[in-house]
This record gives sequence, structure tokens and C-alpha cells, in this order.
Amino acid sequence: MVFENIHKYGNHEQIIYCHDHQTGLRGIIAIHDTTLGPALGGTRMWNYATEEEALIDVLRLSEGMTYKAAAAGLNLGGGKAVIIGDYKKDKSEGLFRAFGQYINTLNGRYITAEDVGTSVKDMEQVYMETPWVTGIPKGLGGSGDPSPYTAHGVLMGIKAACKEKLGTDDLKGVRVAVQGLGNVGSNLVKYLTEEGAQVTIADIEQERVAQIAETYNCEAVAPDQILEVECDVLAPCALGGVINDQSIPKLKCKIVAGGANNQLAETRHGDALREVGILYAPDFVANAGGLMNVFAELEGYSVERALERTTSVFDNMMHIFAEAKDQNISTVDAAYNHAKKRLETLGRLKRKHLGFTSRPFTTLKEVKNR
Ligand code: NAD
Repeated sequence: MVFENIHKYGNHEQIIYCHDHQTGLRGIIAIHDTTLGPALGGTRMWNYATEEEALIDVLRLSEGMTYKAAAAGLNLGGGKAVIIGDYKKDKSEGLFRAFGQYINTLNGRYITAEDVGTSVKDMEQVYMETPWVTGIPKGLGGSGDPSPYTAHGVLMGIKAACKEKLGTDDLKGVRVAVQGLGNVGSNLVKYLTEEGAQVTIADIEQERVAQIAETYNCEAVAPDQILEVECDVLAPCALGGVINDQSIPKLKCKIVAGGANNQLAETRHGDALREVGILYAPDFVANAGGLMNVFAELEGYSVERALERTTSVFDNMMHIFAEAKDQNISTVDAAYNHAKKRLETLGRLKRKHLGFTSRPFTTLKEVKNR
């Protein structure tokens, strides 16, 4: 069953099951592809109904990280981890330290970070057992919560999409509907309002809606109305799969550009958006800012370097739009092609033996221990 799923969900290099009875740890690390570098991706803690569900989730998520890193121009492979459990009840120092010990055995082949259900504090506990963790507290030389950087990258993706579709990247007066006001969505609303955009918001947590609406002076609508708001940009920042056969005919936007992972229910919905004249900013290109930020931690963190990278989402996105136009394909297909081409080219270069000379680059481990 495990190998069957591996074959079905992306032909991964390695899957590691982590078990510690005393702390209740039941975790799976999936390393999808290390052609470009160490597999980096966060640890999700979720109350999966079955072990198979956890396996399928980690397989899909880790494959997604390979393309996200490749499209972002980072020298990182794709990996991800899941811990089976309720993040509200089942967390303990022992659990994250036991998990950290397993990550350590991989010697940097897999590097973790926070994800849904895990926090900067959890990563600090992982760090007690292994250096192969990012998103650790600033006081420990890390960069803390990556969400503001994810949101900054999304802002750049929105600007690129506006330039492409509306002819300007000036967001003054541009109408943006933001679905989901969590870590990414709330930071995005802040950046958008600073740019003078006219923002409409929705979340299922009414308290959050009221607080953001008051702080940033924006209009709020019910969660079931946000996809149908008449606007220039729809920014999904909550769930995956929101762009589907049912929602597409109801959309009243010119652009879909947001931070949520897997916004398209299926890749074919990229073509469906194109057919109705809506420009789609591929999610894994738009939301790579958090990954860029934690990658900067591996280089020796500086805010300037992290912002330089998240700003590059603008150029990356414009490149994808140009490729899609040239090849007459959807933007999501163009983004996958771009990522796959980089994997192929650099993978081929790595196959050459260059003699017994000293290595031109330091390893990430040397960089980390500097
Ligand atoms: P979060 O859990 O902090 O926020 C999600 C928000 O969406 C919550 O406020 C929740 O109440 C709201 N929500 C849930 N269902 C909703 C619905 N039907 N309608 C409206 N609102 C709804 O998560 P986050 O860290 O902000 O991440 C948001 C998305 O971005 C996720 O898809 C995540 O995978 C993706 N992402 C996040 C990061 C990051 O750095 N945090 C990086 C890359 C991608």
C-alpha cells in the first residue's frame, strides 16, 4: 500500500516513518526530490482520520514543495512531514524533541519548518535536537514566523498580475477580495491597504473579521459571498480547491492571485479560468515567499536578503505569464513546465564528474555552522 501510494502520488525518493510510544509520536517524513538540494518543507500536525490519509497528504505536499522551490529559483528539493495528532491537545516538548531526533538522523537531507498546526515554539523544541530546522525564533538566529514574507510575496504576485491584466502595478484603487484572514491573509490586507487598494474581506471567524475591518477600514462580506464579490483581484488565502467547476461560473474578478495552497481543485481549472478571461497567478509561484525566507536562514539570515528574494516573486510571475502567452497554454501549466525544465537542466549538469577539485560552493551545513 505504501509503495503503491508513492508510485501514484509522485515517485518519491524516500519515506521515513517516525514512532515514539512514550511521547505519542507518529510522524511521516516524505522526501520527494533532492535534485536541486536538501528537501525543505514544513511539518503539519493534523488529526488525520487514517494513516493512509496522512501518508497521501505528506506525499502530495512534498511533491508540491519540489515545484515551489524549483519555480522560485531556490537550490532546495521538495519534502514535507506530518505528525498525526490534534495540535490543540497532543503537543508536548517530548513529542517535538523525539521528532527532532529523527530529522537529525537524515543529516540535512530533510530540513523542516512550521506549517499548519505547528508554531515557532515547536520548531524551537525541534532545534534542541537538530540543526536541520528553520523558522526558529529570532533570538536563536532564525527568522520566526514566515507568514509576513509569504504575504509580501503574494503582494508581489498580485502586482505582477495587475501589470499583466490591468496594465499597471499601482494598486491604488484596485479592488481586492481577500478570503481568509489568518497568518497570511491578515498580513496581506495590511500590505494591500498600505498600497491604497480597496479591500473586501471574509473569514469564518467573525471576531477576526471585525478586528481587521476596523484596523484597516475595509468592507466585510459573509464567507459564502467572498468568491462572488465584483472585484479586480480575488485573493484566496484560506483553503485549497476553491477554484472549481461550481465556483468558476460565479466569479466576478479579473484575476485570481492569493496565498492558499492548491487553489485549483484540478490543474484543468487553470484552462477553465483562461477560457473565461480570468488571469490566474499560480499559487506555488505566488506563495513561495515563506520558503524564500526560511531559505535565507540557511544562508545566514538577513531581512534585506529575505525581502530581496520575496520581491523577486514579481519577476518570476511576469516570466510565467510571458511563457504562458508564448506557448498558448494556461499559466499553471507554464509554471509547472518552468519548474520541470529547471529540474531537468540542473539535474543533467549534476551528472558530470568535474574532477577531484575542491568544491566551488560551501555546503549548507558549513554555512549553517559558520
Ligand atoms: P491560517 O490557518 O492562519 O489562516 C486561515 C484562515 O482562513 C483562518 O483565519 C480561517 O478561519 C480562515 N478560513 C477557513 N475556512 C474559511 C472559509 N471557508 N472562508 C473564509 N475563511 C476561512 O493559515 P495561513 O498560515 O494564513 O495559511 C493560509 C493558506 O496559505 C493555506 O492554504 C496555507 O497552506 C497557505 N500558505 C501559507 C504559508 C505561510 O507562510 N503561513 C506559506 C505558503 C502557503
